[in-house]
Amino acid sequence: MPELPEVETVRASLEPKLVGHRFEAVEILDSRLTRPVDPAEVAAELVGECVAAVDRRGKYLIVRFESGLVLLIHLRMTGTLAHSRNGAASKSHVRAVVRLDDGSDVTYRDVRRFGTWLVLRADELDAYFSARLGLEPLEPGFSAAGLAERLAGRRAPVKAALLDQRTLAGVGNIYADEALWRARIDPRRPAGQLDAREIRVLHRGIRRALEAGIARQGATLRDYRTPDGSSGSMQNEFKVYGRDGEPCLRCGRPIEKTRVGGRGTWFCPGCQR
Ligand SMILES: [Zn+2]
Repeated sequence: MPELPEVETVRASLEPKLVGHRFEAVEILDSRLTRPVDPAEVAAELVGECVAAVDRRGKYLIVRFESGLVLLIHLRMTGTLAHSRNGAASKSHVRAVVRLDDGSDVTYRDVRRFGTWLVLRADELDAYFSARLGLEPLEPGFSAAGLAERLAGRRAPVKAALLDQRTLAGVGNIYADEALWRARIDPRRPAGQLDAREIRVLHRGIRRALEAGIARQGATLRDYRTPDGSSGSMQNEFKVYGRDGEPCLRCGRPIEKTRVGGRGTWFCPGCQR
């Protein structure tokens, strides 16, 4: 599933292709993408709209139009966006196509069909996000004190707390494991038991893990591709995720796999306390 670094890579790649361009034609081929709204209605709303900006909040892509409308895209499990000039290379699992006024196409594919497209007005965004999303971990305003406040008193394992999008927006299974390894914290510890020093180290670990993912264009495990069709390379540099049985890069003990909050979780029993 794409997490913050993957969605940020998609955003940065689409931004120069979209900003200043008009949606000339919009085809939505799967009603699950827009339900409960009729896909034809959504397509009609988007036609003629000119893109002012492409932003991100957590794992959401935000296409802002000059009119004040926004298109909110969530890729969920397997959604991908591709930009191409000569028609899509592959026709499989195409759920929507946007033809831009320069003749290029943005093609949305989704094998599992959990992704969503939602049209809102810009003044509805704050309410939409505040009900769903917590701190934005790469914003300058994300502080160790803010993280401490969100974790205080929580009995859930710290990994489960990090996966809760209302705590931190954009962190998923991969980057939660990577951040906790960097911070030397056992993912099963109750979130509310971390002391101030551990939270500072965790705050830094979260940022570093996410920044490492962005620097490598995200992690391609299965479906994720950047909009020009290339793969990310973060999967080659995981510190702990998916490495069960391999030696810890810090202390040499074999990495173990367990389950936390129902999710596969990798950690080092030697140096994560
Ligand atoms: Zn270790």
